[in-house]
Amino acid sequence: CGKQDTCGVENNPRNNIKNVIGVMSGKGGVGKSTVSTILANELRQKGYKVGILDADITGPSIPRLTNTQNKKAMMSTEEMIIPIITENGIKVMSLNFLLEDENQPVIWRGPIVGSTAKKFWTDTLWEDLDYLIIDMPPGTGDVALTVMQSVPINGIVMVSIPQDLVSMIVSKGVNMARKLDIPVIGVVENMSYILCPDCDSKIRLYEGENTEQFLNDMDLKLLGEIPMCKEITDISKNGMKKITNKEIKDILENMTNNIISS
Ligand code: ADP
Repeated sequence: CGKQDTCGVENNPRNNIKNVIGVMSGKGGVGKSTVSTILANELRQKGYKVGILDADITGPSIPRLTNTQNKKAMMSTEEMIIPIITENGIKVMSLNFLLEDENQPVIWRGPIVGSTAKKFWTDTLWEDLDYLIIDMPPGTGDVALTVMQSVPINGIVMVSIPQDLVSMIVSKGVNMARKLDIPVIGVVENMSYILCPDCDSKIRLYEGENTEQFLNDMDLKLLGEIPMCKEITDISKNGMKKITNKEIKDILENMTNNIISS
């Protein structure tokens, strides 16, 4: 099947999910899971009911980022998977919750990986959610394609680092979503600059890229520029409560407002 509505994937009647946002990246390691976690926490703080579906099956980092590692998921009486709930009430589903040992690699071929992500959509007891954030598999390969075809995603947030932003890595991902008729909400530039912890000065390692032109040409909105800083690296250790820098807090809140207003 090609487009979402032709794929015949049933929504589970036990779930009522108002908005599904896919967080995607052209390649791994650019902060896709970090942005997914930040977005989920910001939305939760605004009072929304939020879930995170970790579709990055072979490299799941959501349990670590949400401090739910070592948890094991249980089945409900209706044979649905009960998600793990974080301290602040975000429902999370990740393959790690089903594995005996999270350090063992998942040596599965693409179709199995794709169908596992699909099952997390159909078989998890999400119940009522305002927002389900999907941490997409990195890149534009067959697993990302399966997820995009089998889950009714309302919009894609593309995460990139500055040196890749104007490259074909990002445009490929954007074009893939658009070919599947999924709107691209916009782009988050992560690790935009380094925020000096002592002097608050901004160090931009990559400048002079024609970002504005690229975004115009691709008809893309810039949702936010997130600095590279210790407070964000430490989310997996401290959660987001320890982010005290007002500038960073405002950037993350504005990014979230830009996403939900689109
Ligand atoms: P991806 O999901 O794209 O593979 P991750 O979100 O797992 O990437 O991030 C990769 C690494 O970079 C992690 O160790 C994360 O803590 C770190 N990281 C991501 N964004 C930032 C940032 N803005 N500042 C500092 N560290 C970051």
